[in-house]
Amino acid sequence: MHELDPKIVKAADFYDQHYAGIEPLFIRPGTKIVLGDKNNRVCRFCGKGENEVSFKLEAHAIPESLGNKSVVTNFECDNCNQLFGRGIENDLGNWSKPSRTFARIRGKSGVPTLKKGGPDPGWRIEYGETGFEMKHYEDDPIFYVDEESKQLRFELKRDSYTPVAVLKAFVKIGLTLIPAVELPNFVEALAWIREQDHTKGLVKEFPIFRTFQPGPMPNDLIVVMLMRRRPTVSGVPYAFLVIAYGNEVFQVFLPSPKQDAAIAGQKLTFPAFPTPGGPDPTRYGRAKFSLLDLTGREVIRGETVPIVLGFDQVTLNAVSASK
Ligand SMILES: [Zn+2]
Repeated sequence: MHELDPKIVKAADFYDQHYAGIEPLFIRPGTKIVLGDKNNRVCRFCGKGENEVSFKLEAHAIPESLGNKSVVTNFECDNCNQLFGRGIENDLGNWSKPSRTFARIRGKSGVPTLKKGGPDPGWRIEYGETGFEMKHYEDDPIFYVDEESKQLRFELKRDSYTPVAVLKAFVKIGLTLIPAVELPNFVEALAWIREQDHTKGLVKEFPIFRTFQPGPMPNDLIVVMLMRRRPTVSGVPYAFLVIAYGNEVFQVFLPSPKQDAAIAGQKLTFPAFPTPGGPDPTRYGRAKFSLLDLTGREVIRGETVPIVLGFDQVTLNAVSASK
């Protein structure tokens, strides 16, 4: 046991005073949860019922790419399912892929392989039965071995994505998990996540809180929490989602123009939702907090993501690059 960081105790107090949450969900591959009424199917996102749209496809409450196999809903119609799958969830998938690979999170077809792409041979990072296999070429390196600090430092390229689409995909998870009684507070947000023209905005400044918990973490667990402002409280955003998978925890506010009118345009200062931290902070380091700005409306191509892996021992197999 190590002593709790006083900052974490303070943050826990802050959230306890200002927010009340619904029971956290711990999602593992076997966790079967079906949300919504099977006998009265109305799409939460477009508002249409069974007489207008079909509900044949399996609708995941959290994208399968993040490792959710088994939490599904009855309130997402096939049209919306395909719209989200082709659109914002694809952006979230591209954006999150490097960290999902390194956290060994299994999506629809296993842990994603990262590769250069294109017709020429290029670097490749693959997770298989014996662990990670990484290949790169001298003239196109993607990682550097730092023997002294026992670290592998990667500079990985992300597939293209639109930041605000990633933000919408996170908000969509929150709007899927909130109780139906809350939906009238999120009419604008529900329309916004369906809007395919990402230049049309609902939010201007909209930071996501990201906490990185270093060290080996379970690769088959997603934790989600939803918090709503207590009725007696003001001066803080109405609702937010916390979603944790792999080494990352994201705190995402759910925009409600109606409920957030009093704080619109104001600068707010408050702590991030406290996270339990990594498995052993003395060995792997403390959790790192950062603010993410995912409000950009232009497609980002070729962005580089730095990733650092620690190692105990490394054996390098030279690959001859015969071109
Ligand atoms: Zn729909």
